Amino acid sequence: MADYQKIKKELEGIAVEDNPALVRQKSRDFYWYSPILKAQLDNVTADLVVTPKTEEEVIRTLKVAYAHGVPVTPRGAGTGNYGQAMPLSGGIVLNLAAMDKIKEIHPGRVICEPGIVLAQLDKQTKAHSGQELRFHPSTAQTATVGGFIAGGSGGVGSITWGGLRDLGNILRLRVVTMEAEPRVLDLTGWDLQKVSHAYGTNGIITEIEMPLAPAYDWVDVLVGYDDFMEAVRFSDALAKCNGILVKEIAPIAAPIPFDYFTRHKPYIRQGQSIVVLMIAPHSMDAFLAFTAAQKGEIMFRSDKVESMRGIPHAYELAWNHTTLRALKVDPSFTYLQVQYPGPDHVAKVRKMVEIFGDEVPGHLEFIKFDGQIQCSGLPLVRYTTEERLEEIIKIHQDNGCPIFNPHRYTLEEGGMKRTDAVQLAFKQETDPKGLLNPGKMIAWENPDFDFNAGKNYLFPGLAALM
Ligand code: FAD
Repeated sequence: MADYQKIKKELEGIAVEDNPALVRQKSRDFYWYSPILKAQLDNVTADLVVTPKTEEEVIRTLKVAYAHGVPVTPRGAGTGNYGQAMPLSGGIVLNLAAMDKIKEIHPGRVICEPGIVLAQLDKQTKAHSGQELRFHPSTAQTATVGGFIAGGSGGVGSITWGGLRDLGNILRLRVVTMEAEPRVLDLTGWDLQKVSHAYGTNGIITEIEMPLAPAYDWVDVLVGYDDFMEAVRFSDALAKCNGILVKEIAPIAAPIPFDYFTRHKPYIRQGQSIVVLMIAPHSMDAFLAFTAAQKGEIMFRSDKVESMRGIPHAYELAWNHTTLRALKVDPSFTYLQVQYPGPDHVAKVRKMVEIFGDEVPGHLEFIKFDGQIQCSGLPLVRYTTEERLEEIIKIHQDNGCPIFNPHRYTLEEGGMKRTDAVQLAFKQETDPKGLLNPGKMIAWENPDFDFNAGKNYLFPGLAALM
């Protein structure tokens, strides 16, 4: 057991919290979205929360943690939903929320600290020079840019720009290593993939350079269809429409919109499937002409309502907010993350709708993937048992629709189901004691883990807590 009193002393001058209730609070994220993760991770908590204000303080904290052999789990705002920011081995939660400054804004790019909230970043770059991030998660009002890069993938704007994995969507990261004498590395180009979406397992991001796009007063629109597949075909056609500038296209099947979008309910008919959209103001005339030709029914326009007071942003109906809104009303729901590889993505969606019907109400996000328009999905699942959930996953995969499993806390099982050799090699170099966010990279703890065996990985450090 580490001597935390001694550690606190050595960290003097840096904000440290050891009140168990407050430490527990900062040891949680949105893991409870998954009934499976909820059972596995409910008892996870750190010993200390350290909140550095500068890169210097990050370096000092890592140095002390390294000397004592104490694990460090970085944290932005804790909105990840796979337990990414949860300290499976206890130790220190490194809360980066106080490193929240913008350093420079230039045409096409911004340099900032990791803890700035995404909506704040957009507000400041818009006020400075009419620019905004190319895309953001639907949690933009609360999530940090560092947490997005280390734990997220894409979101609102990905229809135009693709995701974080695409070269050019992150410009540069400054990373502090977990060694006796921590080093500060500047990463660009392919090297960025060593730490982006690595859950903070191989370095602490202390500075970020992101590309910017022109900012608009995006118009929120809801388009209604009586049939979900018509909403999907409309979405696909709009996504492929060259001239109309959109930031979000998400078709969502009935009964979700009427039953769970409580603030928008007055604008939606029961039984309607809805496409959630964000359209550039100067594209509205073209968009309306297009929608009329596609026989879509405009149910809501943010530029035509008297007041938006109490009405959430359209993007807070989409991405994982769709799940959140359903869960708030009916906690028995859970969800999946599905890819429908093109060019026959619409046919794949139809097949899944035919097989599962109302057991898996549809929710798609149209995005650009490897240069092509495709859709990924975050369908809701009426959860019964773990066995049935596994069966639903298998049926998707057998039909050519890969699942990125949101009911797993490891990098590998949630994503590509194989070792990421680049991230593993980087961890060997930057975190030789394996102290950064232990338990999240299977390849580190168990290089022989057989992904084909179909078994879940259980981090040994968790066994004591379950
Ligand atoms: P956290 O949850 O605090 O951390 C995420 C991961 O990054 C953790 O592994 C943490 O250890 C690591 N980390 C944090 N900061 C650093 C750092 N400075 N250096 C190294 N590692 C670090 N995600 C999407 O991609 N797109 C979406 O549209 C989306 N929608 C969501 C909607 C809802 C309702 C919810 C609950 C989640 C959603 N998410 C989405 C997931 C999550 O909100 C985002 O990925 C978000 O950007 C995470 O930011 P955060 O600050 O909360 O990070």
